[in-house]
Amino acid sequence: MASQLMSAPTAPRRLEGKVAIITGGASGIGECTAKLFVHHGAKVVIADIQDDLGQALCATALGGPINSLYVHCDVTEESQIKAAVEAAVKAFGKLDIMMNNAGIADPSKPRIIDNQKEDFERVISVNVTGVFLGIKHAAQAMIPVKTGSIISTASLASYVGGSASHAYTCSKHAVVGLTKNAAVELGQFGIRVNCLSPFAMVTPLATRFVGLEGEEFETAMNSMANLKGVTLRTEDVANAALFLASDESRYVSGHNLLIDGGFGITNPNIK
Ligand code: NAD
Repeated sequence: MASQLMSAPTAPRRLEGKVAIITGGASGIGECTAKLFVHHGAKVVIADIQDDLGQALCATALGGPINSLYVHCDVTEESQIKAAVEAAVKAFGKLDIMMNNAGIADPSKPRIIDNQKEDFERVISVNVTGVFLGIKHAAQAMIPVKTGSIISTASLASYVGGSASHAYTCSKHAVVGLTKNAAVELGQFGIRVNCLSPFAMVTPLATRFVGLEGEEFETAMNSMANLKGVTLRTEDVANAALFLASDESRYVSGHNLLIDGGFGITNPNIK
């Protein structure tokens, strides 16, 4: 976590007393968000399939069992999402924030005439069904207390075509649809539902997808960006998630928050 993005220790903690689940929290955006949420006073449950990474993160950077819990959770399995929500409530007494962040991307952009049904369905299963199940089971815990914030990680691919595979683009557009529908339905219970759409940044998922690492990756991305002199990092997405998770965004719902440095203004399609 870049220290300049952390607030001073004396600043008010923006998630004091709140309990969050972050799916895909063992790595990348989820890991960074988990650290920021704990820094701001939240108890965080990491729900992931990378057990070693997730357990180590909870034991070290997230401050151990007082602040965090790791649960093995494949988001495509309804019983495992349900169990993750139950584990959060059992460990910390409630659930205030659900971040549906787990996601996968195809390693390539196959032409639609070559795209295999199984490969397409694998991405949809994690990126769409996983988000659907996360919203469903978080809502069940939040409805009785009539409050909650559900945040899903979409992507630049939620509003442009051609930046990723057919399955990935389709899946992230679907996250926006789920967000809007759920925001309409759950608003009556005081539950807010939003999503985040970042441009590309260095994480294991993105470096695998783009085929570049570190500075090389960032230089390539910066050349496409409208906002110059700034490089998108996981901390920027974590800070946006912090806003949507906190009461500062108490009247924000059904929103797709773009974190794209204005990319979408001039690049409606990427060829
Ligand atoms: P990452 O690979 O670092 O993290 C993804 C995490 O999801 C991993 O810890 C992985 O184990 C977990 N995961 C994968 N399948 C899972 C499953 N079935 N059940 C539970 N966990 C599972 O990648 P990231 O870039 O941090 O990705 C996080 C989210 O951000 C994804 O939804 C991705 O689509 C989205 N996103 C990333 C970028 C980017 O440039 N990195 C840009 C836009 C959106």
